[in-house]
Amino acid sequence: MTEPADATARRAVKPVICYPVDTLPQPDMALYAGFRAQAVKTGEVVVAPRAAGTFRVPAGGFFRISSIEGPQVGDLNLWHAEDLSERFYSGKTRALHGTHVTTGQRLWSSFPTLRPMATIVADTLGWYGKDDFGGSVHDVIGTRCDPYTHNLLSGGQYHHCCHSNLTRALADATGLPLQEAERHVHDVLNVFMCTGFTRDTGQYFMKASPVRPGDYLEFLAEIPLLGALSACPGGDCSAQHSSDQAACHPLLVEVFETPADVLGDWVSPRVNAYDRSHGR
Ligand SMILES: [Zn+2]
Repeated sequence: MTEPADATARRAVKPVICYPVDTLPQPDMALYAGFRAQAVKTGEVVVAPRAAGTFRVPAGGFFRISSIEGPQVGDLNLWHAEDLSERFYSGKTRALHGTHVTTGQRLWSSFPTLRPMATIVADTLGWYGKDDFGGSVHDVIGTRCDPYTHNLLSGGQYHHCCHSNLTRALADATGLPLQEAERHVHDVLNVFMCTGFTRDTGQYFMKASPVRPGDYLEFLAEIPLLGALSACPGGDCSAQHSSDQAACHPLLVEVFETPADVLGDWVSPRVNAYDRSHGR
């Protein structure tokens, strides 16, 4: 293909950030640290390999996802505990914070609420930054491994992809029929997964996660949350997923509640203020 004469000049145009975040309300991390210091552990769930577990966190409480036993990636879904239609919006979180998230950044909810659902308050892999391949940890670019894409590319029926694990776990937690629960499963936060895009083809890549037992990612629940976490059949995602080949390990989720007197007059972020008239 021939290039136009001004191709170099056109490519040299400097990019601008789509969504500058200078006007985004910032979390009060000192306030959250105060909550955390007084928070009391109220429960935990160990998520078995190639399965998912669910947990509930009251607003102002915390949940911590930890690596135990060995390197393992987790696929996280979040919903408002009383309204499954308000759910984590991976794409908008990516548009606001970039491809990977860490301490001080937030997981945003779907339209029309578009508000912070959770704020990352601790990340023991925060040191990783970006590696020489352009890889980083905890991405909001992947979707979740699923049996449909697996069938499309390789044929066959595999039942322990994160999509199916999350579907079964949500059905168990809510009593919804399996196929109805499936409709609420959405694009995930890839906890501990190390990913990026190849420079030459722009393809989504993964590599062995740097996570080790003892590492954790911790969140403040900005609203009452129902969470589901799948221990991906990809294990540390160094080679493949959608099969039982990879070495897999459990993940631990711990829940902490902040006493009401410590929360004081703190309230959840308000729902988005757009009037929803859409010009009519
Ligand atoms: Zn997976």
